Amino acid sequence: MSSKQHVLIAGGGIGGLTAALALLQKGFDVTVFEQAQALREIGAGVQLSPNGVRVLYALGLKAEADRLGVDAQGKEVRVWNSGKTWPLFNLGAESIERYGVPYLMMHRADLHKILLESVLKLKPDACEINSRAVSFEQDGSGVTLQLEDGRSVAGDVLIGADGLHSNIRKGLFGPDKPEFTGGCCWRGIIDMKRLPAHLRRPVGVNWIGPEGHVILYPVRSGSLLNFVGHVEREGWASESWTEEGSHEELRRDYAGWHEDIQTIVGQIDTPYKWALFLREPLQKWSQGRVSLLGDACHATLPYLAQGANMAIEDGLVLARALSEFDDVEAGLQRYEQARVERTTRIVNKSAENLGRFHNHALLDPATADGYVDKEWAPEKIRERYEWIMSYDAVTTSL
Ligand SMILES: Cc1cc2nc3c(=O)[nH]c(=O)nc-3n(C[C@H](O)[C@H](O)[C@H](O)COP(=O)(O)OP(=O)(O)OC[C@H]3O[C@@H](n4cnc5c(N)ncnc54)[C@H](O)[C@@H]3O)c2cc1C
Repeated sequence: MSSKQHVLIAGGGIGGLTAALALLQKGFDVTVFEQAQALREIGAGVQLSPNGVRVLYALGLKAEADRLGVDAQGKEVRVWNSGKTWPLFNLGAESIERYGVPYLMMHRADLHKILLESVLKLKPDACEINSRAVSFEQDGSGVTLQLEDGRSVAGDVLIGADGLHSNIRKGLFGPDKPEFTGGCCWRGIIDMKRLPAHLRRPVGVNWIGPEGHVILYPVRSGSLLNFVGHVEREGWASESWTEEGSHEELRRDYAGWHEDIQTIVGQIDTPYKWALFLREPLQKWSQGRVSLLGDACHATLPYLAQGANMAIEDGLVLARALSEFDDVEAGLQRYEQARVERTTRIVNKSAENLGRFHNHALLDPATADGYVDKEWAPEKIRERYEWIMSYDAVTTSL
């Protein structure tokens, strides 16, 4: 494909920026259209497993990712009321030995910033803010993106990286039908300095309970602790990631949990909450010169922590496919074929994990230990995670 091909990307989130960087590095011209008034991320963490970190390293971001991420030494499982602990997996040196790269825990704003800076180094005017993508038209020779402010922009390829409520997906395949899961999530960031020493370790912890769980991990070089709490309940159906909830409501949701959870919950400055919806992953992503990536085509429940990792993998595989095939449509078809099976499997396995994390066997300490011993046995953990982490988007066949 000629280096003058112009790729339009709707959405400057983690997936859109990864795709932009990978495409610019391969010689494409790229413009990202972001609806927000500033290019930034919400104040929350993201766990980058080796399959995602491998892509960041391949894109030349190793030094910055290592500096800002926390190279977690491991992950643990703890039971909601007893606090009893099981190893989930060892990371640190073991991750590098096994996968060649670490498992990094990062602040989303840090990840977004290093992607954005690298994009702008290659093309200073690559990102346009206040640019909401509304619709598109295409024919055999090109594609035109319509923005909400009335502008039309012509290009050779259009990628919808515009997240959960993607307008590009609507234009391709019509409205989706999200289904409420009956679950709600809390998120918050805590200054590590406010926590006792035993909670300030470079490990991730998954607390599991009968009708809720909590994911904790350090970010920003270990100076902050990221909290994501999941509870099963009705009464909250907003999917926004920026709606504030009250401390009182958060404390009520975690009444009866171990004192470590009470300590952490008590130190969250601003708790945010959002409702969890399930979407069927699309089996077709592309039509002609237009395709999708990330949450726009395979939004996932967060129970395998793979939404951002998948979007990052998509970005690199997309750039490889477009550069290996002269014909845009053939390139997009290869990209889709290389990615649909894996991303569908992750979305389905992630939904399956809900029944594992929230289980009534955990109500009674007499049954809880046996349940965790069985469900988190080393061979079961390997079966659930090994295929995810060992995937290599840099070399996977197209
Ligand atoms: C609190 C939280 C914790 C998470 N933890 C993890 C984790 O640990 N590991 C993991 O892998 N994943 C995690 N995820 C999921 C992950 O963040 C998402 O799957 C990932 O951000 C998807 O990337 P994306 O680029 O597809 O979409 P987004 O990051 O949502 O980016 C979409 C972008 O498009 C813009 N946009 C939307 N509509 C338009 C439009 N019409 N025109 C122009 N721009 C538009 C948006 O403003 C946004 O900037 C988490 C999610 C949340 C909320």
